[in-house]
Amino acid sequence: MPDVVFTVDQARSMRDQDVPGHNRWHPDIPPAVTVSPGSDIRVECREWTDAQIGNNDSANDVRDVDLSGAHMLSGPIAIEGAEPGDLLVVDILDLGPVPQQEGGPAPGQGWGYTGIFSKQNGGGFLTDQFPDAYKAIWDFHGQIATSRHIPGVRYTGITHPGLFGTAPSPELLSRWNTRERALIATDPDRVPPLALPPLEDSVLAGTLSGEELAAVGRDGARTVPARENGGNHDIKNFTRGSRVFYPVHVPGALLSGGDLHFSQGDGEITFCGAIEMGGFIDFHVDLIKGGMATYAVTTNPIFMPGNVEPRYSEFLSFIGIGVDHDSDTNLYNDATQAYRNACLNAIAYLEKFGYSGPQAYLLLGSAPIEGRVSGVVDIPNACCSLYLPTAIFDFDVRPSASGPVSADRGSCAVSS
Ligand code: ZN
Repeated sequence: MPDVVFTVDQARSMRDQDVPGHNRWHPDIPPAVTVSPGSDIRVECREWTDAQIGNNDSANDVRDVDLSGAHMLSGPIAIEGAEPGDLLVVDILDLGPVPQQEGGPAPGQGWGYTGIFSKQNGGGFLTDQFPDAYKAIWDFHGQIATSRHIPGVRYTGITHPGLFGTAPSPELLSRWNTRERALIATDPDRVPPLALPPLEDSVLAGTLSGEELAAVGRDGARTVPARENGGNHDIKNFTRGSRVFYPVHVPGALLSGGDLHFSQGDGEITFCGAIEMGGFIDFHVDLIKGGMATYAVTTNPIFMPGNVEPRYSEFLSFIGIGVDHDSDTNLYNDATQAYRNACLNAIAYLEKFGYSGPQAYLLLGSAPIEGRVSGVVDIPNACCSLYLPTAIFDFDVRPSASGPVSADRGSCAVSS
């Protein structure tokens, strides 16, 4: 087993670990550990909300989740000799839920969850259609996930980290804050908000305290979006065997991350749409000196997808176009609207088999579905498609002359 360079006791909050992690991006958060290029390392992670969500049948915890302390990240890990302009090479050797634990109150201890955030607290891709909070608990059986809240499906997870990245330079952080504040200023009262500005509440910055911690709270970037340092990509293909090339913006690179996912569909559409868990991830780290300029990797990481993932060979695919069907209004090459419609078409179809809309929405967020940008040039309608693997269902989900087999599919967890 590689050296465990960041340890998490799942019985304690990230705040109470011997070396705490952090929940903002900021160059002044001190490294928890320094490792050499060429090292194999293990990083242990808390579930991204610091385990606010329970293994129960109510979605009240999702409705009321406090997002000011998210994402709880492990790190930063300094890499000896890394300098701005280098590429940090990160191989994902292995990852999974909390090892050897088939029970416990923290996500990752034999179970995980998918949540639909309420429109008032987080929102999601289909928040206008699904404004309330819902939840599904998933039980892990080796690599297989099943849910008492979504019976009739069983699938192999596409296990990956939702979020890893390097620390921003002071200059890069300042640019993020400027441009995100400018976006927020276009509609400051919007629900859900257009972006999340720095927030002093619940800030955690490793071992920093006092005025140094307050300074991170005032300027540190929130961890929700992907940015030039990597961050919350939620790319399901960061599976075992992946190699990611992260731009280095500060001395030591300062790699941090977490938000491990047992599985996720492309788009992570419910926002908390993966199967969320704590656990471990093993990396091999190395450097390409000066690699950013050598390979023109200046704004975002590049990566080679993993070679260990579930194999599904048959899909039922749903198409969406960039039209607002409620008002029959044409939008111009709007791929976001097109993918939203592909999702809504898939949900309407699954409802014919007895699932509720929220159950179908939770399934599309968490199962290994493929989302594709199919056409963005055929004016005015962008076209996107969603590929649903048919083998994840224990009934025949394909269309036929005999019609869908509707059954009592139970209920997902709802809020009171
Ligand atoms: Zn996540």
